[in-house]
Amino acid sequence: MTDEILESLGEGVVAVDREAKVTFINKTASQMLSISQDLILHKKLDLLSSKLGRKSHELLLKVLDDLEPMKEPLTIRDDSPVVYDLIATPLSEKAGAILVIQDKTDAYRVLEMGKDFIANASHELRTPITIIRGFAETLQDMPDLSREKREEITDKIVRTCARLEKLVRSLIVLSDVEHLPADRMQSANLLAVLNRCKEQLLLLYPETELEINSPSEKAIAFIDVDLIEMALSNLLENGVKYSRGAAHIEVFVELLGPNIVIKIEDRGIGINASDLPHIFERFYTVDKARSRKSGGAGLGLSIVKNIIEKHKGKIFVTSKVGEGTVFTLILSQKI
Ligand code: ADP
Repeated sequence: MTDEILESLGEGVVAVDREAKVTFINKTASQMLSISQDLILHKKLDLLSSKLGRKSHELLLKVLDDLEPMKEPLTIRDDSPVVYDLIATPLSEKAGAILVIQDKTDAYRVLEMGKDFIANASHELRTPITIIRGFAETLQDMPDLSREKREEITDKIVRTCARLEKLVRSLIVLSDVEHLPADRMQSANLLAVLNRCKEQLLLLYPETELEINSPSEKAIAFIDVDLIEMALSNLLENGVKYSRGAAHIEVFVELLGPNIVIKIEDRGIGINASDLPHIFERFYTVDKARSRKSGGAGLGLSIVKNIIEKHKGKIFVTSKVGEGTVFTLILSQKI
């Protein structure tokens, strides 16, 4: 029974007797150590052919000698690192020792992604803070500035604060979107959501031409309305930001079996084929200066993708430099 439990564990387990003969090795350990259970069982411990094996071997012998439990981390750097925790414990009455090998690679990756995210977020936050500080210091050091100059500077401070606020809001959505409660999902008319996005966009960019095409007046989807509104607004605003002069955007809504397909087409600057696979990555911007000028930090599309994935939907993009870009979203009418 105990052996069956140990056999089914996701952790590797190796036990030796007081003479360092292997008395037990489960399947996970034999896979991790690339050694067949039959070949090692009841034989003197010999695991020296791999790095993980050598560390396991060394730890078991040390614990047999010292009779003290030990825990050691081990990182094996190949193409992508594999991270283990090795925990060795002496058995009572000097009967031998047992080693547990835990694969911690997934936890390590999550931690690394978190570190990357924090590094990128701090970098992006630092720029507007530096700008605000610089302008505020100018006001402090030069009390005799003309009224126009002062207004120009305070205007820049206010605009940079707005950018900072937008950035912080995006970061909060990004870190929270996976944890939003499911009861926010409801059947709602996508066309009404699109029309609200249109109104807001035209307030900001009145010269934009935006056409919404749909075969019927209703396109009911099962969605979190606020999130989908945020995703659609982001895509529409990108259509404006990455167009030269007044933007021309067309939206097509189509009911296709159980799905709703939304196409957002612009006639903007387009995206290079080499950038296209990366645009949904957090903090990825094709032209940093252009994004910054329009208040972007490369977070918009990663938020859109997260939102669509939370809806178990899909998002695709096609683009031609100089001709324009098409984002296609597929959502469910019902979940
Ligand atoms: P940003 O805040 O920089 O706009 P996004 O995540 O929204 O960040 O977009 C990432 C990059 O993808 C942008 O920097 C831009 O170069 C490119 N991009 C996004 N949408 C479009 C579009 N409709 N047309 C051309 N380029 C786009």
